[in-house]
Amino acid sequence: MIDNFQELGLNRELIQAVTELGFTKPTQVQEIVIPRQLETETDIVCLAQTGTGKTAAFGLPLIQDMDLDTAHTQALILCPTRELCRQISDDLNKYARFSKGFQLVSVYGGSSIELQIRSLRKGANVIVATPGRMVDLLDRKVADLSHVRRLVLDEADEMLNMGFKEELDTILSFCPANRRTLLFSATLPTEVEGIAKKYMYKPEVVTVGKRNQGADNVKHYYYMVQARDRYLALKRIVDYNPHIYGIVFCRTRQETQEIADSLIRDGYNAEALHGELSQTQRDWVMSRFRNKTLSLLVATDVAARGIDVNDLTHVINYNLPDEPEQYTHRSGRTGRADKTGVSIAIINTKEHSKIRQIEKIIGKTFAQAKVPTGKEVCSKQLFNLIDQIENTEVKDEINEYMSVVESKWAYLSKEEIIQRVLSIEFNRFLEYYKHAPDLNVPEPGTSSRSGKSSKGGEAAPAEKGFTWMELNIGTRKGITPRQIIRLMTACGVGKKGIGRIELYKEYTRLEVSSNVSQQIAKQLNGSSYRGKRLIAK
Ligand code: ADP
Ligand code: MG
Repeated sequence: MIDNFQELGLNRELIQAVTELGFTKPTQVQEIVIPRQLETETDIVCLAQTGTGKTAAFGLPLIQDMDLDTAHTQALILCPTRELCRQISDDLNKYARFSKGFQLVSVYGGSSIELQIRSLRKGANVIVATPGRMVDLLDRKVADLSHVRRLVLDEADEMLNMGFKEELDTILSFCPANRRTLLFSATLPTEVEGIAKKYMYKPEVVTVGKRNQGADNVKHYYYMVQARDRYLALKRIVDYNPHIYGIVFCRTRQETQEIADSLIRDGYNAEALHGELSQTQRDWVMSRFRNKTLSLLVATDVAARGIDVNDLTHVINYNLPDEPEQYTHRSGRTGRADKTGVSIAIINTKEHSKIRQIEKIIGKTFAQAKVPTGKEVCSKQLFNLIDQIENTEVKDEINEYMSVVESKWAYLSKEEIIQRVLSIEFNRFLEYYKHAPDLNVPEPGTSSRSGKSSKGGEAAPAEKGFTWMELNIGTRKGITPRQIIRLMTACGVGKKGIGRIELYKEYTRLEVSSNVSQQIAKQLNGSSYRGKRLIAK
């Protein structure tokens, strides 16, 4: 095992740069890939998970190998997303801080092509690009790849997943045949193998089995709930972890947006990250997530691939990925750099076998966790509040107001003051969780409770004397709780007859007093609201 960067054969400028970044010893990928690039000319296929330090593994030797006296583009790095493009560029620029004359230009969609063309014209030793934009620039004949000696395909499997096969073919046809190619991928599906066969010369395949640091520090839990209770379970988990800083993974863009919208509506610091957002929106979301203004990033796998954010406390699989292998990438986002992390899967009763499948892949077992009860969430929040109060810095300036405050509160006892101060924040939780049902469902195979909760379909059981109803209008029609209440008033149902209201994009669920539910259905069914025929059931 090599435990410093000097032994890898890197030059002084690069060693100084990585030392300043706090890298003390190379990761496994770096230990293998860096010397190979400096000492040999072979093509390399490197299979490694996220977080293994691939950027420096290809980046450092690439910078060292650069002829900084010419303005030709000698290296091209292709990666799947804009975000990743920017991240790689930032990282490389940091590594090259002391390497005079290093010029990198990054080009990606969703950003002014004119500016990128101007930068390219000034000269770029290295281009970091997304495939789509690269093809665009080649079509316009503003990029010259005829001097490229090093080609890096980063996250190759993801590029192919995203349908960039044709673009890769085009771009590769512009690169000289005698270039050297490095391909990085987390998995090796046949499409990736195809690329390697077609465009690489006798590549050496390097597999880095174990993820660096991290993996062992991650604990895996699953929560089993009815499918419809997923969102409620997510909220409980988040509320139970007041200092959560994590990524919530969803399967589709639509789901990502819906969950983020619901979380925002419910008062959480959350945002969505997916491919349909503009570059500016993505930057805004990412910068707020990086500086921790946001505590939850709700993302698709593709959008979050390769994004490097350290210190995540939790990774939450709102839905398990379609490909069990994908779970590894997701959970690998936490537990980095010797910190511990938690990876959570919220599953329904039918998904138990998926957990078993994933366990085989990760070689670790999941522990079943119980969705906290309302009471547990409340006491957790209360203690958090108490901690916060204890740790609040008290500034001297407050003293000048103290006499007024004291006289105003003279009639209150210490206990009363404490209760009121705590209640400012705490009432919200008490109120929300007042009648919170148990969301857990028993493991399949164990005796289920009187059939009621294992039937599936229905969300949290309705309050006593109340029934759940569903209306076919939701937030897409601009519905707010207030409008639902108005609609109910129009049916002659007062506030007392209405319980919880859950708004979704296409529909709304609401609890209504059982003795008026039929009356509501009768009045609403067939009538129209904002141009839509209502169905209430
Ligand atoms: P990958 O591309 O494999 O997902 P990255 O190259 O993005 O991984 O690296 C993941 C994180 O690890 C980054 O924050 C990077 O700065 C850090 N890192 C990389 N190499 C080292 C090292 N040798 N020592 C400490 N941290 C490192
Ligand atoms: Mg990477």
